[in-house]
Amino acid sequence: NAKNTGRGTTSFFNAELREQASSHVELHHAIMLGLKNDEFFIEYQPVVNSKDGSLHSVEALVRWQHPQHGLMPPKAFIPIAEKSGAIRELGNFVLNQTCLDIPKFRKAKIKGRVAVNFSSHQFYDRMAVDAWFAILEKHDIKPENFTFEITESMLLPDRERQRDLLLSIHHKGIHLAIDDFGTGYSSTSYLQHFPVSMLKIDKSFVDRVPEDKHQTALLTALIHMARALEIDVVAEGVEQITQVEFLNKHCADLIQGFYFARPMPIAAIIERYGEQN
Ligand code: C2E
Ligand code: MG
Ligand code: MG
Ligand code: MG
Repeated sequence: NAKNTGRGTTSFFNAELREQASSHVELHHAIMLGLKNDEFFIEYQPVVNSKDGSLHSVEALVRWQHPQHGLMPPKAFIPIAEKSGAIRELGNFVLNQTCLDIPKFRKAKIKGRVAVNFSSHQFYDRMAVDAWFAILEKHDIKPENFTFEITESMLLPDRERQRDLLLSIHHKGIHLAIDDFGTGYSSTSYLQHFPVSMLKIDKSFVDRVPEDKHQTALLTALIHMARALEIDVVAEGVEQITQVEFLNKHCADLIQGFYFARPMPIAAIIERYGEQN
């Protein structure tokens, strides 16, 4: 098996074989060990008002400073966490850390909500959701401080249980945002009867605006739909001034992207947007 043949060599091929042979138990263990050793941390990316660049809210994005592999982006380990079940502990870590950070934001007079990402794997039962509420209570943080970002797939008709859990989150006062909006290939009919406060239009609808006519038409339509439904709309992945100008012209009020700010440690957010005291 891959484990035995790979031992003692360092070639990528063997490393890959080892990786494939890794059981869920081992992957789960690796993430749990990383959590125990404080290898995970949060960066916050500003969502800003397109008119003046002022801060609207922040999104928490998890990173893993791995002792062997170096700094790992979420794409490299969230799927592993989901497969192995460690997403549960990882998700609780993220929520716990944001609860520790919110008082620091408030102390610096930074008022907006903090957005936290959730994958459908985290919505497995009522106990998971109750555990999140318990984390907030433990830190005495009001649910109104949070937006939970989910993807369209969680609102598919066959996900009734998850929809019930989402409704209970909404009733607590936590806002719900649809992340990567437009990429889910799902019907938008859920917007009629589901309490969504924010649509985050995926970067892939923003990348070639305004040069690409077709993409520009799609983006414009998405903005108008959100505005007609009185749902906040955020354009994700905005990198160019020409994109900012276009969004301003079409009254897309909120922007998240490297043009204004990259994800950064909380201290950098406070230094840039907070009030010195
Ligand atoms: P997302 O929720 O859509 O987050 C936005 C991603 O786009 C972030 O990548 C951010 O760094 C990136 N981004 C923002 N503006 C720009 C831009 O102008 N240009 C480019 N090229 N990229 C930009 P990141 O931090 O690598 O996160 C990737 C994804 O991982 C997130 O996408 C989210 O789906 C997931 N993720 C991150 N943190 C968590 C978490 O705590 N829990 C869960 N379940 N998923 C998470
Ligand atoms: Mg997100
Ligand atoms: Mg997104
Ligand atoms: Mg995403």
